[in-house]
Amino acid sequence: MKSEAKTVIIGGGIIGLSIAYNLAKLGESDIVVLEKGYLGNGSTFRCGTGIRQQFGDEANIRMMKRSVELWKGLKEELGYDVEFTQSGYLFLIYSEEELEAFNNNVRLQNRFGVPSRIITPEEAKEIVPPLNTDGVIAAAWNHTDGKANPFKAVFAYANAAKRLGVEIYEYTEAKDIKVEDGKIKAVVTNRGEIRTGRVINAANAWAPLINKMAGVPIKIPIEPYKHQSVKTEPIKPGQIEPMVISFKHGGVYMTQEANQGGVIGGYGLKYGPTYDITPTYDFLRGVSYRFAQIIPALKYVNIIRVWGGFYAETPDHNAAIGRINEIDEFYIAAGFSGHGFMLAPVVGEALAELIVDGKTDKPLDFYDPYRFERGELRGQALQMG
Ligand code: FAD
Repeated sequence: MKSEAKTVIIGGGIIGLSIAYNLAKLGESDIVVLEKGYLGNGSTFRCGTGIRQQFGDEANIRMMKRSVELWKGLKEELGYDVEFTQSGYLFLIYSEEELEAFNNNVRLQNRFGVPSRIITPEEAKEIVPPLNTDGVIAAAWNHTDGKANPFKAVFAYANAAKRLGVEIYEYTEAKDIKVEDGKIKAVVTNRGEIRTGRVINAANAWAPLINKMAGVPIKIPIEPYKHQSVKTEPIKPGQIEPMVISFKHGGVYMTQEANQGGVIGGYGLKYGPTYDITPTYDFLRGVSYRFAQIIPALKYVNIIRVWGGFYAETPDHNAAIGRINEIDEFYIAAGFSGHGFMLAPVVGEALAELIVDGKTDKPLDFYDPYRFERGELRGQALQMG
């Protein structure tokens, strides 16, 4: 392990790896990523695979529009197929109130070039043939949303970063950060010390612990909540191609894997704050019931896996991304709730630009880590699960 590096990124999830890759792509050298377990073992490998631009605020729509452009090119750029498919997102709408809210969202999304639209229940059923449309009055549909394979995305970013000279140390835990007179001196790990002047906190659910090590003097409230997901045995290909969501049924979401054919999904049951991710029977029962409400035929399909992971939640469900002014060269990109996987390409690009060029054209101000301290929360990010 190196004893000195220009940049130390703490966290080997998709966010830390995307930042490492993008920094190296902009010509930065001497970058180290520390991961206390194996790459992706935090939330990234546990996610629901969904990638959407259907948000209800300008910043997340613009960020995701760019992220989808990047996702589309990742296979070529990183030299590895991350199985990104634009199979769409379908939000089921059951009431006039919901319809009004989705109409407003669609108008905003269209303003920024996202081709979402409101469709009829009959059109929704054409997209998802086994869908139960009882009570559905409309749906919000965007065919350019999609999904990707988190396992392949992690390895694609990690390998591309390594090719650009980034060193990645798994099973290497940051234990302390030495700061003197507002300047970072070193990161202490279980395998020794790395002298450095720059740290990026990409530890998501564990980000508050990293902030504490460095003595970050502002309040950045990120809390770990357990959310769970399941996967069913494979079903006939092409049955549930988009991500299908119903807020009426407890925030249930589901989609069929592009290649393996199983249905992945979850709903809004959460526990916490906690660092325990043991799956629960209540979840299994609740998700089975809700899956069958949306797709009745799923009653006859077995669940083969259930797992827990973290939504690293902030009070407005938007991440904290940016520079911490009181500690020279300390940055944070953490607290991604249920949408860090989809944002990873653009977050890596934007933060790398901020660090290297001192500015970015992406709306990072929206994710200002100081907003909590000032009591200026953003509108709640649209989130499912
Ligand atoms: P992580 O992947 O958690 O990476 C952080 C890493 O930091 C971890 O690997 C951890 O081990 C490491 N670390 C922590 N402390 C230290 C330390 N001291 N030293 C070294 N390393 C350390 N997002 C979407 O976009 N779409 C979805 O459909 C979606 N569905 C989800 C479904 C579920 C059930 C869950 C749980 C999450 C879902 N998410 C989804 C959210 C998504 O998984 C996260 O937002 C995303 O993975 C965050 O990536 P990350 O790299 O910030 O965090």
